[in-house]
Amino acid sequence: MKRCSLMSDIAGKPCILCCAITGSVPRKADNPAVPISVAEQIESSHAAVEAGASIIHAHVRNDDETPSSDPDKFAVLKEGLEKHCPGVIIQFSTGGRSGAGWERGGMLSLKPDMASLSVGSNNFPTRVYENPPDLVAWLASEMQEFSVTPEVEAFDLSHLLQAQAMHAQGKLFGKLYVQFVMGVKNAMPVDKEVFDFYVQIMQSRAPDAAWCAAGIGAAQIVVNEWAIAAGGHTRAGLEDNVRLNKAALAPSNAALISRAADLCAKYDRPVASPAEARAILGLRPA
Ligand SMILES: [Zn+2]
Repeated sequence: MKRCSLMSDIAGKPCILCCAITGSVPRKADNPAVPISVAEQIESSHAAVEAGASIIHAHVRNDDETPSSDPDKFAVLKEGLEKHCPGVIIQFSTGGRSGAGWERGGMLSLKPDMASLSVGSNNFPTRVYENPPDLVAWLASEMQEFSVTPEVEAFDLSHLLQAQAMHAQGKLFGKLYVQFVMGVKNAMPVDKEVFDFYVQIMQSRAPDAAWCAAGIGAAQIVVNEWAIAAGGHTRAGLEDNVRLNKAALAPSNAALISRAADLCAKYDRPVASPAEARAILGLRPA
């Protein structure tokens, strides 16, 4: 019975699908569909948008596939996305795998609609993911200066609470949007009890905020379903997961977005258009 009442609460509520197209880690050797060049990124984004994505979360790469934080590359990508995916929400990564320290915010002056923002430190598979307070404060202030809405990446419960505190203190531009990230090795595992607690903490303490969730690897589809069933938004894409299942690589970013869109249909949730997603997130119209 609980499930029925929950479903009636969320039925008809649009779900925002974010496509994390490239990231810093996967290479062509892992999956040839990972878009590396800006031209590949634009083509892959276009197909993902056709499949239902309304946010494109992007990193840029060098020609040898290593991560880059070059603002010129971000500028070319932004221009291409605006031309070929009109209206789509452009979200740049300020994550620590793409550059060190202050380099991570060098592209914010391009005024993307959104940028990812980590507000605390944690472990990653082979190292510490360092987000010291002065760097976090600077990235947040740059986002305010350039009217960029952060998507706070919560790798741990403390990050979720820190995001709420920073927003309450007026340090985050725009509406509060938090993403729960689960399944990064050595950080928060994919755990339904923790997920439910995250949702509860968002609903009770930041009822005007919006939230989404992402799972890494084989857990991508698992967390997609949890988020959609719980009334949140969700992320898919080759950055987080290069496989459809144990036997098959994902043929494209669009294929991973399509899987999430199918889950939206299962829970009676329309996939948000870019214009609807902009309204939900309080972003400027395209
Ligand atoms: Zn990313």
